[in-house]
Amino acid sequence: MTSRVRWSAAIAGTVAVCGWVSAFGTAAADRPFPAAGAGAGAEGTTPRARTDSGGALSRNAAHPESAAAPESAVPPESAAPRETAAPPESAAPESGAAGEPAAPRRVDCAHAKCVALTFDDGPGPYTAKLLDILAARHVRATFFLVGTNARAYPKLVRRERAEGHVVANHSWDHADLRRRSAAGVRSELARTQRAIERAGGGTPTLMRPPYGSTNGTVASVARGLGLAQILWTVDPLDWKDRNTALVTKRVVRGARPGYIILSHDIHRTTVNAVPAIIARLKAKGYVFVTVPELFSGHLKPGHKYFKRPR
Ligand SMILES: [Zn+2]
Repeated sequence: MTSRVRWSAAIAGTVAVCGWVSAFGTAAADRPFPAAGAGAGAEGTTPRARTDSGGALSRNAAHPESAAAPESAVPPESAAPRETAAPPESAAPESGAAGEPAAPRRVDCAHAKCVALTFDDGPGPYTAKLLDILAARHVRATFFLVGTNARAYPKLVRRERAEGHVVANHSWDHADLRRRSAAGVRSELARTQRAIERAGGGTPTLMRPPYGSTNGTVASVARGLGLAQILWTVDPLDWKDRNTALVTKRVVRGARPGYIILSHDIHRTTVNAVPAIIARLKAKGYVFVTVPELFSGHLKPGHKYFKRPR
């Protein structure tokens, strides 16, 4: 019974985050994407430009994370969480339980056909299944965690790190950081750093601004906290179209060497797409790397990155 209560609370937290996303989505969608190329490494490449190659990908590419439709406020999967769910976790972080990261790999993305899978907004009910899928295929990814969920699912945070994935910062409660003061941005990011550290996920060196919404203040605070800003080049709109086949097709068609693929492990349809995405991209010769591996570790705090420079 206790675990059910805890689980319900965790699900409620996830739904609340999604509702928050929607609440800000409409306004945010009206604004243009932040100027690209302001940071070194961005190479003047906007997500719009890059996703144009993917056909359907370009529809909402100007502000991919922002245009959350009202119906996404309560994800369909939230109605029946216990069917597929990861085991509930204690809400209390387990102090002192620092996860040991997996051994680093040597991947030369200057020569290999690298692509970075990234998963935002978790951990959530489908993250454990995703980790099983990735482990079975020896694929490493990068997870951008919402602080409230890192606090709710410390074991998943630790597991992500222990299995060789990179754990990164996606703000405390999925805030539109451009609407915050410098102190507000610092609070969003620093609080999430602490939650991830406490969960045993290490100290992140990467952040992704929710909705891709960033500015000079965000860059400055990120720099102060030692966080590079990681945007993306392929957006399969998996938050909007909860369709496994469609998400798979968009990712596979949109991928190019050096690209960063955005997706969300809080959606069951996305997690279900991952086996086919991996199989089809592997068949095309792609190697799956984490974001630091994609850039050979050359990421500067505060700077924005959309893809590996050619
Ligand atoms: Zn997000």
